[in-house]
Amino acid sequence: MANAKANVVVLAGGTGGAKLARGFAALESVALSVVANTGDDVEIYEARVCPDPDLIIFHLADCIDQRGWGLDGDTFHAMDQLGKIGADNWFRLGDRDLAIGLDRSLRLRNGESLTSATKVLAEAMGVSASVLPMCEERVATFVTAHGDRLPFQEFMIPNGPRGPVEAVDFEGIEEASVTSEVAAALAAADLIIIGPSNPAISIGPILAVPGMLDSIRAAAAPTVVVSPLVKGEAVKGPTEEFLRSSGVEASAEGIGKHYANISDGIVADEECSVLPTLVTDLLMHGVEGSTRLAEETLKFGLGLRR
Ligand code: GDP
Repeated sequence: MANAKANVVVLAGGTGGAKLARGFAALESVALSVVANTGDDVEIYEARVCPDPDLIIFHLADCIDQRGWGLDGDTFHAMDQLGKIGADNWFRLGDRDLAIGLDRSLRLRNGESLTSATKVLAEAMGVSASVLPMCEERVATFVTAHGDRLPFQEFMIPNGPRGPVEAVDFEGIEEASVTSEVAAALAAADLIIIGPSNPAISIGPILAVPGMLDSIRAAAAPTVVVSPLVKGEAVKGPTEEFLRSSGVEASAEGIGKHYANISDGIVADEECSVLPTLVTDLLMHGVEGSTRLAEETLKFGLGLRR
């Protein structure tokens, strides 16, 4: 008998895309793959931290902490101890998060792929969706502001993000390539979703992987963008500042124009003149809210033609 499930691929950063992915995971009729940004990855001591793939897994496993990152109820003994020694501890990595990063580093050192290490973590956390890093190669997002070019986490964390952002670049992106797992997921997709994540720093790196745009365009599935703006504003994080620096208007119209070359439709809370639009409430309140938006997006997307 034919597989009755719809293959949905969500491109995602850590929060907006992850929340929507959680909604798709709740739909019985969906087989979900999530392509995750790895441009934010960072080495903290010996631990390889993959903030976006891990956030996605934590959301899918319903163990994201209330603060919006890290594991529910995690402790910070390792970072506190480093502070007591006078060592660097600006990156607040929880103890269980540290364990995840250490295990990942070891696996990579032993020749395992990042895709495989991510799969092991997802399975260990009871996640059945397939969470796929955007590429295997090391890509690092850099932000230039006030004439200083800083690695993404150093721009975001020690003093908080301070714009105006002058430029964003993805170091190593030229050497990156679409993994066979991502290519297979896109080719088999019934619907591709550009999640409501920061277009510049979360979705930007994914689409910049050489071959990614071609793989999305070559896919038989329609592509739908879900806007990260609720009433013209980001729910969290410096999305507007990054949109401004990329010359994208902070509105459904601006988001639609930005993705018009790869999208067949947009889900937003206001009309967009450049793409077929589903106008709906974009705020995802808990799993219920995520599931509601995923369901509406699925229905809209499957009804679109390429
Ligand atoms: P992060 O910055 O790495 O955590 O990852 P993202 O880029 O995925 O998350 C930030 C984006 O998520 C911001 O642009 C938010 O506006 C968006 N976002 C967060 N919650 C929601 C929501 O409930 N609905 C929508 N539409 N966007 C959301």
